[in-house]
Formats: sequence, structure tokens, C-alpha cells
Amino acid sequence: MDIFDKCYSYTYAKEFIASGYYPYFIAMQGNEGSEAIFQGRRLIMCGSNNYLGLTIHPKVRQAAIEAIECYGTSCTGSRFLNGTLELHEQLEHDLAEWVGKQAALVFSTGMQVNLGTISSLVSRNDVVVLDKDDHASIVDGARLGWGKVKRFKHNNMHDLERVLDGIPKGEGKLVVVDGLFSMEGDIAPLPEISKLCKQYGARLMVDDAHALGVLGGGKGTAAHFGLTDGVDLIMGTFSKSLASVGGYIAGDEDIIHYIKHHARSLIFSASIPPANAATALAALHVMQEEPERVKRVNEIGDFMRTNYKSLGFNTGNSATPVIPIFIGDDRRAAIIWKTLFEAGVYVNMVVSPAVPEGKQLLRTSYMAIHTDAQLNKVLDIFSVVGKQVGII
Ligand code: PMP
Repeated sequence: MDIFDKCYSYTYAKEFIASGYYPYFIAMQGNEGSEAIFQGRRLIMCGSNNYLGLTIHPKVRQAAIEAIECYGTSCTGSRFLNGTLELHEQLEHDLAEWVGKQAALVFSTGMQVNLGTISSLVSRNDVVVLDKDDHASIVDGARLGWGKVKRFKHNNMHDLERVLDGIPKGEGKLVVVDGLFSMEGDIAPLPEISKLCKQYGARLMVDDAHALGVLGGGKGTAAHFGLTDGVDLIMGTFSKSLASVGGYIAGDEDIIHYIKHHARSLIFSASIPPANAATALAALHVMQEEPERVKRVNEIGDFMRTNYKSLGFNTGNSATPVIPIFIGDDRRAAIIWKTLFEAGVYVNMVVSPAVPEGKQLLRTSYMAIHTDAQLNKVLDIFSVVGKQVGII
């Protein structure tokens, strides 16, 4: 038995590529935020997490350049040893203040935050409780921990209570949910989740990867519900609204101190490079100085959702600028994706295992810098394509 046998016999993606409908790994030739160049053509970008459009902001770009001039291109080491810059510490300070927590800790990616935080907190006699639609990085963080993993039905509070009730009293419990679910654009009911956590003695961690910059005036899901004290840990990433790459966990000082000394994905990996840290810091400051960006992206979300619905598309329970268009099968989704691409709109095609069978969707997402003209053009194209393929 050769360990590579599975690679030689893996034909699914090759067949998909040969069909001409393969929607993944398409290289961009240029990116101007709300428009991007693919295969020599300019497309309206409705498949990015650049919610505030800050990747092209002059202050944000300048901050990256200055950080390289001051610190060079890399930290060439872990935060633990030679890889901590004053820039990291300032970022941690400003992020903690923004989300309303005592302290924050910056990792090199959001994935690493979830891997390191959950696995360092959940020990052998503990239980981690996840929503069935939680992001893969949360699932993997839970798998890396030594404790048990239990799941409850998506946003279903009866099921969460059933799971919590079934855990013996002496066991430590951590509930982890996405604040804004990345594929379907719906929001976790934090007031109910927080109440159940208190009732059953569980700690609550919220992944705000998509909520930072979007919900709660940009502060995230807890702020959206006025519940900052009802959430123990807030996780976020820089790869969306903050126009960079990296991530953080924020909470009480003692908990962050513990994670800082136990999270293997922090300790055994090089720290976020100077330019990326400076970008995130500058983007955070621009978001604070220009709150109209947060307002605009939400208005755009409402506008697009209302219009998709009145055209007859199924947008599920989306309540944010992440708007899925449910299609329901792989083949159809691929055909619609390609037709939209050729007509000038870039969206993301999401199929199993990222979503369950039957819930295949096209994920559309919006940014504060989309113009009304671009949005109307997207709706016109969706309307034509939707009718052409018979889904509206
Ligand atoms: N959590 C969620 C909900 C995400 O959507 C993502 C990224 N798609 C991550 C965590 C990981 O973030 P990063 O890209 O910084 O690794």
C-alpha cells in the first residue's frame, strides 16, 4: 500500500477542471477592491471579505510600506522569542480596547487563533460545544484539544440546552460559535446562548471573523447585542475588514496570559510580519475614524438582500452583507457560477463539505466601496442569469 495511492486515484477535481466549470484557484491579475481583473477581464467583485474596502485605502497601504522600512519584511521568529514588535503590542492594546476586553493576543492567522486558543483551553476532562455550522478552524481547534467535542443544531437553542444538560457538572465547558456565519450570513442568537452558558456554567467564545467591521458599529456580534460582558472570549481575523492577514483573541487578562503561554500555534510559528501588523492597525484606526464605512456596507447588504428576494432568489436567513443565493445542487451551481463570471460578476461557489448536500449556494458579499452603479449592474446580471437557468 503506497500512501500516495489516494492522490493518484483522486479524479474528482481533475474531471471538474476538464468540464470547464471549475470555479476555484482562479488567479487574479489585478485587484482594485470592488473590481478585479481575471483572465484579462474586469469583474465586479462580490466574493471578497474586504467588507470595508480598506485594502486600497491610502493610509492603510502607506502603513504597510513604512513598517517594512522600519522593521524589514519578516520577524523571522515566534512571538515568544525574537518575533514580538512594539507594533504587535500596540495592535493588541487597540484591539482589546475596541472590542471592550481587558487584553488581546495577536496570532499570524485567524485559523491559528482558533487552533491555539481552543486546544490550549480544552483539557482531558473538558467538553467543547460547537454549533454544527461553525467554521472549520473552530472544528479543527476542538479536534486538537484533548477534551470531548459535542455539537448542537445550527442556532437551535433547544438543542444547545439538550447538549449542555447532558454534560456532567464537574466537567469544564467551552461553547464556541461564529458570531456572523460566514456562508449563510446569519447571526448567532448570543443573548440566548450567553444565558444558557451562565445557567450551565459554560464559558463562551465567539468567532467574529466576519462580524468585526460589520456588526455592532464595527465592534462585532457581542456589541451588536450590547452583550460584551456576556461573552468571555472574542476572536477575530485581520483577513477580512482589516485588509491584512493575522488574527486575535481578546478576553480577561488572566485568560489571555494563559493562552499566550500555552497556545502551540502561537509559540511554534513565526509572528505576523511587520507590514501585515501595520496594515491591521491602520485599518482599525480608519474604521474608527470613518464609521460611515460600517454603515454603508450594512445598507448595501440590506439593499441587495431586499432586491434578491424580490427577484425571487432564496437568500435563506441572511441578515448581513454576506448573502447566499441557494441553488441546491453542484452542477447547477457550477453552471450559474460560470455564467455570472462570463457576464462580469465574481461570486464564490460553495458546495459540500463546506455546506451540507442540498444547500449548495453562491456566496455573495459586499464592501463599503461598491458603487450604486456596480450594485445595480450585479442585480441586472443576476436577474438575467437567474431567469436563463430557471431558478427564478
Ligand atoms: N473563522 C472564520 C469564521 C472564518 O471565516 C475564517 C476565514 N475564512 C477564519 C476563522 C480563519 O481566518 P484566517 O483567514 O485569518 O485564517
